Amino acid sequence: MNSIKKYLAYSKSVRVMAIDATEMVQEIRDLHNLSNLATAALGRVMIVSSMIASTLKSYEDRLTIQIKGDGPLGNIVVCANSALELKGYITNPEVELPLNNEGKLDVSKGIGLGTLTVIKDIGLKDPYVGTCELLTGEIGDDFAYYFNVSEQTPSVVSVGVLIGKDGNVQKAGGYIIQPLPDCEDKVIDKLESINIKLPSITELMSEGRTIDDIAINATGDEKIETVYSGEVKVKCDCSLERIENTIVALGKEEALKVLEETGKLELTCNFCNKKYDFLKEDIEKLFNK
Ligand SMILES: [Zn+2]
Repeated sequence: MNSIKKYLAYSKSVRVMAIDATEMVQEIRDLHNLSNLATAALGRVMIVSSMIASTLKSYEDRLTIQIKGDGPLGNIVVCANSALELKGYITNPEVELPLNNEGKLDVSKGIGLGTLTVIKDIGLKDPYVGTCELLTGEIGDDFAYYFNVSEQTPSVVSVGVLIGKDGNVQKAGGYIIQPLPDCEDKVIDKLESINIKLPSITELMSEGRTIDDIAINATGDEKIETVYSGEVKVKCDCSLERIENTIVALGKEEALKVLEETGKLELTCNFCNKKYDFLKEDIEKLFNK
């Protein structure tokens, strides 16, 4: 189970989200046959996306995160809804690079330089779109920077994926700490000094700590209150109707051209790899509707 929880600390002046996403990251790895590096990169984005999605308010709200980098991994796209169902993909899932100087997966080099975009469709005429440059490509730092510059919310973002020698995900999780507007400066200073010294989330999880323990460790508040407890899932919402809309957008002429060249029109969902096949009569029928 992928548990996600939200808390309030320091008399409701600090918001905290924390997640154990070990199963989710293993599932996305198996689904896309990801390299270790791609597992860490896409996994980290999915973990932070889960926590941001947990702040969506109504049922129809949607979140999309796009990372566009110039590194060998290519781009990452993750979508989530308020029911905490997530789907995600990475352009080049097979890319592996030498470990960095600290002996860790070099996600920063894999992603490269580029932009981070957060799109929240919350039922308004236009969705909310926030973009910033990638700071390091390590994902956690990039989201902390995003919250600071695009949402004016200084935040601590910790995210990690630990992969074992057998290639399986051993631990994956994250937390976000956000002081609310009435938070006292001394609390903010305390949060900063705790988090500079705290081991990584995967080290804390490997020591057997639960996300409740980690929320207490990371805030230094023993009296932290749990305000939400839920579960996240990998789930794609693609359908024949959606794929048909893509073909309609492509245009009849273009669709028939592809069909003539290859004998059939086959479209694959980037998120779940499900294949949708169309024959010439299907295309004719579609455009005669
Ligand atoms: Zn799909």
